[in-house]
Amino acid sequence: MVKASSEVEACPECDSANVYRRITAGPDQKDYRCGVCGETFAEPVTRAPKYSGKS
Ligand SMILES: [Zn+2]
Repeated sequence: MVKASSEVEACPECDSANVYRRITAGPDQKDYRCGVCGETFAEPVTRAPKYSGKS
């Protein structure tokens, strides 16, 4: 088994890796926020980094 150690955290809505941890989030708030679409979520999805496409 190959461990995917190079995975990045991504937004579950738009798949952007531009997600931020909200350290000031309260107990009833989501911990992460997407910097692209503004979605908030408790846990980001993980995927392999994207190298293709627009640069
Ligand atoms: Zn997003």
